[in-house]
Amino acid sequence: MIAQVVIDIAAKQTDRIFEYHVPDDLDGVEIGSRVFVPFGSRKLQGFVVGLSEKSKYQGELKDLLLVVDEMPPLTPELVELSNALANRIFAYRISILKTMLPRVMRANYRKILVPITDEAKKMPYFHGDPIDLANVTDNQEIGRINRLLRSQDAKIEYLVENRAKVKKANCYELTLAKKDYISLYEELRTNAVKQRQLLMFVIENYEQFPMMQNELEQGAQLKTETLTSAIKKGWLERSQTEIYRDPIASYGRSKASQPKVELNEDQKEALAQITPAIQTKAAKTFLLEGITGSGKTEVYLNAISKTLELGKNALMLVPEISLTPQMVEQVKNRFGDQIAVLHSGLSEGELYDEWRRIRRGEVHVVVGARSAVFAPLTNIGLIVIDEEHESSYKQEDNPRYHARDVAIWRSKYNSCPLVLGSATPSLDSRARAQKGVYQLLELPKRANAKKLPEVNLIDLKKADFAGNQLDLSIQLVDAIKQRLQKKEQVILMLNRRGFASFMLCRECGYVMKCPNCDLSLTMHKDTQQMQCHYCGYATAIPQICPNCHSKRIRFLGTGTQKVLEELNELIPEARVLRMDVDTTRRKGAFKKILDTFGNHEADILLGTQMIAKGLDFPNVTLVGVINADTGLWVPDYNASERTFELLTQVAGRAGRAEKTGEVIIQTFNPDHYAIKFAKKQDYENFYAYEMKVRHAGDYPPYFYTVLVSVASKNEQNAAKEAFKIKKQLQQHLSSSAIILGPSPSAISRLKNQYYYQILVKYKKEDNLNSLLHQIQDSAQKVKRYGLNIYIDNEPERIM
Ligand code: ADP
Ligand code: ZN
Ligand code: ZN
Repeated sequence: MIAQVVIDIAAKQTDRIFEYHVPDDLDGVEIGSRVFVPFGSRKLQGFVVGLSEKSKYQGELKDLLLVVDEMPPLTPELVELSNALANRIFAYRISILKTMLPRVMRANYRKILVPITDEAKKMPYFHGDPIDLANVTDNQEIGRINRLLRSQDAKIEYLVENRAKVKKANCYELTLAKKDYISLYEELRTNAVKQRQLLMFVIENYEQFPMMQNELEQGAQLKTETLTSAIKKGWLERSQTEIYRDPIASYGRSKASQPKVELNEDQKEALAQITPAIQTKAAKTFLLEGITGSGKTEVYLNAISKTLELGKNALMLVPEISLTPQMVEQVKNRFGDQIAVLHSGLSEGELYDEWRRIRRGEVHVVVGARSAVFAPLTNIGLIVIDEEHESSYKQEDNPRYHARDVAIWRSKYNSCPLVLGSATPSLDSRARAQKGVYQLLELPKRANAKKLPEVNLIDLKKADFAGNQLDLSIQLVDAIKQRLQKKEQVILMLNRRGFASFMLCRECGYVMKCPNCDLSLTMHKDTQQMQCHYCGYATAIPQICPNCHSKRIRFLGTGTQKVLEELNELIPEARVLRMDVDTTRRKGAFKKILDTFGNHEADILLGTQMIAKGLDFPNVTLVGVINADTGLWVPDYNASERTFELLTQVAGRAGRAEKTGEVIIQTFNPDHYAIKFAKKQDYENFYAYEMKVRHAGDYPPYFYTVLVSVASKNEQNAAKEAFKIKKQLQQHLSSSAIILGPSPSAISRLKNQYYYQILVKYKKEDNLNSLLHQIQDSAQKVKRYGLNIYIDNEPERIM
């Protein structure tokens, strides 16, 4: 048999299939298997993407060496998907195959220097061991290594490290019959207390064995020593069994007894459309447009139940699970142990365990963030994407896939419906529903028949401020105080973390910037640092201007830290929780803050946009947006869409239960349409207006877009290469394609790389795909000159 293998080297030359002969005595080679193959002088990892009886290749094929896993990590579906996706998003197939696996299964290579000759082996340099070349930086040493290689006293080898570890735990088995334990017990001295305790426990729980160590220790109230001595006596046997780490054990089951709600008419109607598609295996896409609090989750959960009833499995994507613990909790309560959770907040081990449970077919529902769209779930009967408009569904780095596109592909492959849900659908999805490509389902009312909260705008140009700082208006502070008097809770959003957003010298006008990026540094008072929010660069807060040494420096702008201080001054009795990247870095910190707030151990939750979505706290009656304009003027065609969506989502956190809610939005731009429509929480009219704006500007969804970026440490080289690419595009595309740029990105330098970009807008270009593949191929060549080329199909950000 012949195996077609994709090799684990992400390069143009190896981005194709290599064939290997499968030795007769090698078992378990299947499509999707991870294997080791000889490649030149190396031993490399690869994936089997096809099997055949014969090869077209004339020469002799090398033998495949080894199958890594007991069960192929990839399903045939995922192998096929990797091919389709590689073509669409201009990524190497191996990059996609590896993205599909949990991090720990992506092999690590170590380059080592191994002595060959006896003399070399005896050299003190080696101590008889190979040298890890990753640690070699010294020039003299490099010279010595090169001499050893030339004289063939040593050679370079590649070690493949497999970091995936199965977690094991001790398991205890009984060796004797029950009556033997009884007689042992009777014969034992009465002062052998611990041993009697153990034997009594064994006798009483004889049928419960084999038993895990913690169960046994807790049950018999004993320490490991007693168990170990019992093993020596031959009473027990210890073995290791594989166990799973449970990432959601901490999610309480407190709400498990919650009665299942009766669906309202709108929810029933939506479900009545989705259910037949599940039953008849129709690869249809639904857009469930439901205002905040309309009960979309109930529709998803009911649709998932229907899927399970038919013996099929369901895949559900949520924006970023650490941000939506409430959603995970609900799904877990409804489906218990049948679910697996996948997201970046899990430890590598937890992720690996959850992934294996899915691969082995032990779970029927998978809930996860973006990369869970590659879950090795089979027999899929339904796919759900909650908050489908979220930009986090698009991966910003290579491979630049959009989870929604992948979900559509999988829905076709599995012949199953896909449900996209949102209060503020992406313009693209809403336009497709308009054209009938997707079926539109609407939930226009809140599930509990409460009205949406009233939204009031405060014009910051005319506002009176409560304190010395220009952050909190009198109206907003008064409204907060009133809510606190009624023992109600408040959510405040400020989309900027840190204390002050920049340092300005009033003498010379100097603004302190990151040395690696074209961005100003943000002051963080708690760490006493100026930080770059892009590359992480940090330096001490200056006392004098680094440029002219003047003492007249000021720190301007605002951030969550500063507003927290101000709140403490203006409303000292309020208990405030701050939630941003800085306070949620530690694992579990996010959930802890939300639990504290949920238990009403705090009055105000102050945070960046991570608090805008998905939260459902019945006691929150006021939502304040401290500055609605932070995202409005970024030079991106979808800035209005993002602003409208963020404001509508955060407004939706108010007044979700019995008590009526209120929203106060502070803005310098009360007349901007995105803010006016957000005030009315009127998605449909925003959509209609924004479509006109996009039409006038030739932007998506009227045009498709692809962004080509060129990056280099040398600005001129980046620009030159970008112009070359533009020429190439102009020569081969039709006159109806619009080619913009090359222009420096809005932030022209990041991590010491200058960026130039070209945006292609088009409706139909038959040459474009192959042209972009050519550009991708040439990227490999220019890499040697320190140039990097990135192709982003349908970019979320064009800056
Ligand atoms: P969305 O995701 O659409 O913003 P949720 O699914 O979070 O809304 O639902 C909002 C609230 O309404 C939740 O507290 C939920 O328990 C409740 N709810 C959902 N459906 C119903 C129903 N049919 N009857 C009563 N309450 C409901
Ligand atoms: Zn100065
Ligand atoms: Zn930086």
